[in-house]
Amino acid sequence: MRLDQATPEQLRQWETELAAQYQAILDQKLNLDLTRGKPSAEQLSLSDALDGILAGDYKAADGTDTRNYGGLDGIKEARELGAQVLGLDAANVMAGGNSSLTMMFQAAMTGYQFGFNGVESAWKNIDGAKFLCPVPGYDRHYTVCEQLGIEMVTVPMTATGPDMDQVEAMIKADQSIIGMWCVPKYSNPTGVVYSEDTVARIAALGKIANPAFRVFWDNAYAVHDLMSNPPQLANIMEACVAAGTEDSVLQFASTSKITHAGAGVAFLGGSANNLNAFRKVLGTTTIGPDKINQLRHMKLLPNMDALSAHMQKHADIINPRFEAVLSKLDAAFADSDLGAWEKPAGGYFISFDTQPNCAQAVVKLAADAGVKLTPAGATFPYGKDPEDRNIRLAPTVPSVADVNAAMDVFEVCVKLASVRTKLA
Ligand code: PLP
Repeated sequence: MRLDQATPEQLRQWETELAAQYQAILDQKLNLDLTRGKPSAEQLSLSDALDGILAGDYKAADGTDTRNYGGLDGIKEARELGAQVLGLDAANVMAGGNSSLTMMFQAAMTGYQFGFNGVESAWKNIDGAKFLCPVPGYDRHYTVCEQLGIEMVTVPMTATGPDMDQVEAMIKADQSIIGMWCVPKYSNPTGVVYSEDTVARIAALGKIANPAFRVFWDNAYAVHDLMSNPPQLANIMEACVAAGTEDSVLQFASTSKITHAGAGVAFLGGSANNLNAFRKVLGTTTIGPDKINQLRHMKLLPNMDALSAHMQKHADIINPRFEAVLSKLDAAFADSDLGAWEKPAGGYFISFDTQPNCAQAVVKLAADAGVKLTPAGATFPYGKDPEDRNIRLAPTVPSVADVNAAMDVFEVCVKLASVRTKLA
């Protein structure tokens, strides 16, 4: 089906046929969900050995009694694992509680209220302080900015990461840009891995930006490969050292999609200066993280080999679901102009771009037919996709049979919405 070559009669005929198909779907009274970028119960069960794994031995490697207060930076062995995930020295990593998003908000609070270089550098003192947001992106990053009243400015994602020509031009032109969100590996939702050139250019931004500028390098999918020989992400800290901009990047990761999503360990990595500023704020809110949980994680995943073997088991569970989505998209749209998507080599999402002005209609049609999709616009700041095109598909939770059933509905909804938009 190609809309660009269709005559009005053809479009009307398609509309009639598709409306009939859609009605037949409505009659099935489905209840399917492709919204949640979270692990399935089967994936969570891979880590159930965490429960009871300490068998009464609460001592960390250096003898710390993890049951007690203290240890703001986290236990040494957890910091070491985080350091390997983030490509840093353990001295530059803190291990925290169950959520990297919490650490991102705490870091943003630090920048906004207290400043990474003393209060005179606080973002609240910068008129019109703004964050760059590559789009489509992760909605909860936007919420952090909204909560703090930081304006968001979008920049398009390309196949190699954010459009760096635009990023550099914007930063040169506007010193009130004080931050940028990045999901550098298997970006949420496009699945893009930033190229080496992009990583080097992001590291160099610290040379042209306001000294208060910080990249929030959210490496949530650092080890979430779905293929053998996965794409490699260049080391941002090495690039920063080469550019002399170590203070310009804060790195984040967590075990949320490695072990138990609600009960994992989060990591923050950065320069000594950045970590000191962060510690000062964190130390006001807690005497230390849940070190027992950190120790449990280190017993389950003592090193990178164990972590890789564990991630392979996730990939074995997730892969058939991704393959189901991709083969359905291929079968439905490969020879059409109705949508564009990429085949990600890892992560949790497949990003689908409809024709302009169709995404909201697709999501509504699907919802009415009992298939929940992430709200259109959620991948853009303020929930506004200016072209109304992007839909994030998250296939990890449903069974393969349910993914297939949901994708059959998705196909009809995309076709129907596209034809109706063209006719309108
Ligand atoms: N960052 C990204 C890009 C995510 O997609 C998610 C979860 O979907 C998170 C962070 C949340 O991480 P955490 O569970 O560590 O707070």
